[in-house]
Amino acid sequence: MPDDRLVHTMDFRLATDVEAFRDDVRAHLREALTPEFEERVYRSGVAHDDDFAKGLVDKGVFAPSWPAEYGGRDSGVWEDQVLREELMRADAPAYLSETTRMVASIIREVGTSAMRDRVLAGAMNGDITIALGFTEPECGSDVAAASTRAVRDGDEWVINGSKMFTTNGHIADYVFLLARTSPEKPKHKGLTMFLVPLDVDGFEAQAVWTLSGERTNITFYSDVRISDEWRIGDVDAGWQVLGLSLQDEHASGWGPHIARLLYHVEQWAQTTCAHDGSPQIAKDDVRRRIARVAMEHEVSMLLQHRCVWMTEAGQTPVAEGPMSKVFSTEALARASQDIVELVGPDGMRSYFEPDAPEQGRFEHLMRFSLGTTIYAGTSEVQRTIIAQRGLGLPR
Ligand SMILES: Cc1cc2nc3c(=O)[nH]c(=O)nc-3n(C[C@H](O)[C@H](O)[C@H](O)COP(=O)(O)OP(=O)(O)OC[C@H]3O[C@@H](n4cnc5c(N)ncnc54)[C@H](O)[C@@H]3O)c2cc1C
Repeated sequence: MPDDRLVHTMDFRLATDVEAFRDDVRAHLREALTPEFEERVYRSGVAHDDDFAKGLVDKGVFAPSWPAEYGGRDSGVWEDQVLREELMRADAPAYLSETTRMVASIIREVGTSAMRDRVLAGAMNGDITIALGFTEPECGSDVAAASTRAVRDGDEWVINGSKMFTTNGHIADYVFLLARTSPEKPKHKGLTMFLVPLDVDGFEAQAVWTLSGERTNITFYSDVRISDEWRIGDVDAGWQVLGLSLQDEHASGWGPHIARLLYHVEQWAQTTCAHDGSPQIAKDDVRRRIARVAMEHEVSMLLQHRCVWMTEAGQTPVAEGPMSKVFSTEALARASQDIVELVGPDGMRSYFEPDAPEQGRFEHLMRFSLGTTIYAGTSEVQRTIIAQRGLGLPR
């Protein structure tokens, strides 16, 4: 029997005001992302810049779907999607703003009123930033196996342990931390979420550099003491709270990075000549490969838009989110490798070489693409979700 969701009409055309919103965001990014700024971000390996984030706030596009009292536009899910698309397409340093928005949404949903008062306004005006602390040196995909301990001591919690890949943990104001509070209970039932202020004694972040030149961190918690006010949700209800953010992560799409690749390869093909003097774009192989990238981009965007459409219709993209994530990231990896092969040895030249084609975007996208199949849920884990929760296959 066909899934009854499929008989609903899908319409991904954007309303005129959403198109106008996209134009505004694009114009702002063209102005903000100067070559000097891009070089500074590239050299730092850090996907955040305070002034850039504040610029989005001042422009009124930081969190479109949030209420006006928080600087939002009370808009629907499509504005959020358009913002995400444009930031990705432009390779803007937005990861810490994204994690901040994600945690702020959770605090808005399940945080105490005191925590909402303390955090939400700052998170939405760019004054407060929040990193994610789920993964540990010994467990990533099996995030429920976390062993970082939080032990109650009167009105406080004492935290000990370490977290791996706490991206932006060296600059964020808080970390959204998954900790084990009841080791005697089954693993999913003994976890609690906290918002840990990172200026506390006993916290340390050490740099870890990835293949794509991105800085992330291993972080250490040694007798870190925080008040119970920083707990998010009930004690031992961390798995449910964490689920709100994982669902968000798993429903993500990377198609706009393929759009960037497509843009650069089109530029290259039209401005570069082959050995025989004819333009690259005149070659069959060049046209074939570019067309393939264009198709993969199209499919990636459709899968992502289906998730947004479902969310708007009040449905949860349980398997559709993972389909979007796994397809778009693997398509990005395939496409960037294919284009480096097409461009040849020059395609391996980096951003720092003045003669690198398209400012070294090809080799950087190829390195960058590999990480996208790992974070926010690896391809293998996403496939398992599709098989079990989408198709109903046995464990
Ligand atoms: C650049 C980068 C930034 C990151 N930023 C953050 C961050 O800010 N905060 C944070 O908390 N985490 C972050 N992560 C961590 C990321 O979410 C994890 O790397 C990811 O969940 C995988 O966990 P792992 O690295 O421990 O690998 P593992 O879970 O050990 O996986 C190793 C391999 O085994 C496979 N595997 C694991 N379990 C299964 C299974 N059940 N079935 C089939 N195959 C399986 C995986 O797919 C993978 O190929 C980041 C990672 C990277 C690379």
